[in-house]
Amino acid sequence: MTGIHEDVIERLTADVAVVGYGPVGRLLALLLGRSGRRVVVAERQPKAYPLPRAVHFDDEIGRIFQSVGLPPDSQPDIVGPYDDFYEWRSADRDTLLRLDWRGLGPSGWHVSNFFYQPSLEGILDAKVQALDPVRILRGWTAVTCTQDEDEVTLELQSKTDERCTVTAPYVVGADGANSIVRSWIGSSLTDLGYFHDWLVIDLLMKAPPEQFDFSPAAWQLCDPDRPTTLVPGGPGRRRFEFMRLPSETVEELNAEATAWQLMAPWGITPDSARLERHTVYTFQARWSDTWRKGRLLLAGDSAHLMPPFAGQGMCSGLRDAINLAWKLDLVLDGRAGNGILDSYGPERAEHVRHFIEASMSLGEVICLADTAAAAERDVRMRADFAAGVQPPPRPLPRLGPGLHRDDAGGGLLAIQAEVDDGTSRGLFDDVVGGGGVLLLAEPALREQLSESDAALLSDLGWKVVALAAQPGNGCVVDTHGAYADWLHGMGAVAALSRPDLYLYGVAADTDDLTALLHHLRAALAMPVAAMQ
Ligand SMILES: Cc1cc2nc3c(=O)[nH]c(=O)nc-3n(C[C@H](O)[C@H](O)[C@H](O)COP(=O)(O)OP(=O)(O)OC[C@H]3O[C@@H](n4cnc5c(N)ncnc54)[C@H](O)[C@@H]3O)c2cc1C
Repeated sequence: MTGIHEDVIERLTADVAVVGYGPVGRLLALLLGRSGRRVVVAERQPKAYPLPRAVHFDDEIGRIFQSVGLPPDSQPDIVGPYDDFYEWRSADRDTLLRLDWRGLGPSGWHVSNFFYQPSLEGILDAKVQALDPVRILRGWTAVTCTQDEDEVTLELQSKTDERCTVTAPYVVGADGANSIVRSWIGSSLTDLGYFHDWLVIDLLMKAPPEQFDFSPAAWQLCDPDRPTTLVPGGPGRRRFEFMRLPSETVEELNAEATAWQLMAPWGITPDSARLERHTVYTFQARWSDTWRKGRLLLAGDSAHLMPPFAGQGMCSGLRDAINLAWKLDLVLDGRAGNGILDSYGPERAEHVRHFIEASMSLGEVICLADTAAAAERDVRMRADFAAGVQPPPRPLPRLGPGLHRDDAGGGLLAIQAEVDDGTSRGLFDDVVGGGGVLLLAEPALREQLSESDAALLSDLGWKVVALAAQPGNGCVVDTHGAYADWLHGMGAVAALSRPDLYLYGVAADTDDLTALLHHLRAALAMPVAAMQ
């Protein structure tokens, strides 16, 4: 960290300064701004990046978008729910694996959704711009930083070499893979040594989908001569990814002529599709070992990178943003000690490692370019498929150690199902509202809450909702019995969800409910942590 230039033209202050305005910086600014926090975002690019990277998000991310007024079904031109299988096929097109991506996931939205990133970022931007407390500085690069006991001062530099500063109690580096904030933190990286080059092609389709054999719409061609991914790229769009072969150079693969040549066997020509871009990416698998140093924090690609085979890189960054936003909000007005920020990195790092390792293991199967090894793989997978052997369902990862209790539910993702409060019936967050919630299996459990427990939840802005046969008075009807089954499965009479949709913990009985709230009170009061 270095000193600040003297010729600064403006000195800004904020509650949180965010470096980087990709999807993660946008969601973080939106969440903090909606809580009334003053946010300054510095983004070095003068204009929005016009091309997609991510194309897929899951049901949990659908619920996060719902929480900021952008439910996936509100943007039919941008987000297409996927309701089909995802197949892996051999070079001769035999099915090797069929994953069921139909229907809704535990968060109440489709398990898989394909979307067009520039448009989604555009609507996130419009939401952020509408918030008075958020200021976005485009065309300004964060160049230096000084940190003391109370605040951080960032120095920003414009393209024309003007300087300004932003001073804030906290700075979040949502500044992507080559993060400068990470270098200020001085974090080392754990790198799993995964480096594969893939040509990524995005197409705007001119011809109708029936003209092509993309059934199902998402599949993986495990052909050792050219491992290939075919997925939707949002409504009216397609994404192809072709692995670079050992015999090719990046330059050869990156040529436009190569893109058309590779797509010709799929019936794609300039008459049937517009080539929006072709770029070679090196897929990587790594994470930052330190996510917080004092008042500096990391979120998104600055903290982790993974190959895109599971479609979870951006999803993980958005989980970082929502995890961090509610904790910063509590710390900023003293409702919690800043020690709770120490929970952020360990919680998220362990969770994201699950997806990095899952993406790598998918990649190890998909990326086989050795003919003999691929033939062996095909024999094994074909036999499993014929015998009806399915990979076990994806276990939802738990948060790493942090701000939750170590019980049957603590650190797990909460579900979202349909409820009825007497005036409306729909998804829980639409009926009850988002944010933290104590969900009780029956109304009588309310009596177990002491005045101070009720006051604790009310100060946090967390609701208390009970399941009941009749709606009203803070009770909702569990219309399909999903919540009763969920609580029963955890042996719980109550579930305490944090605003980031993860469980703080579950209570096995009334005494345990008192203990759970006691645990929360103690955890939030964590004294000011030693600045690392
Ligand atoms: C081919 C490909 C396919 C993918 N598919 C998927 C998918 O299907 N699903 C999924 O979830 N993820 C996917 N990902 C991953 C996903 O695209 C990224 O994880 C996500 O875009 C990262 O968002 P971010 O906001 O953390 O970083 P970025 O989008 O990289 O944004 C960082 C921003 O910080 C700015 N910045 C950097 N340094 C500074 C500075 N010093 N000062 C000011 N501004 C700065 C940059 O200009 C940039 O705008 C894919 C990635 C690739 C490459």
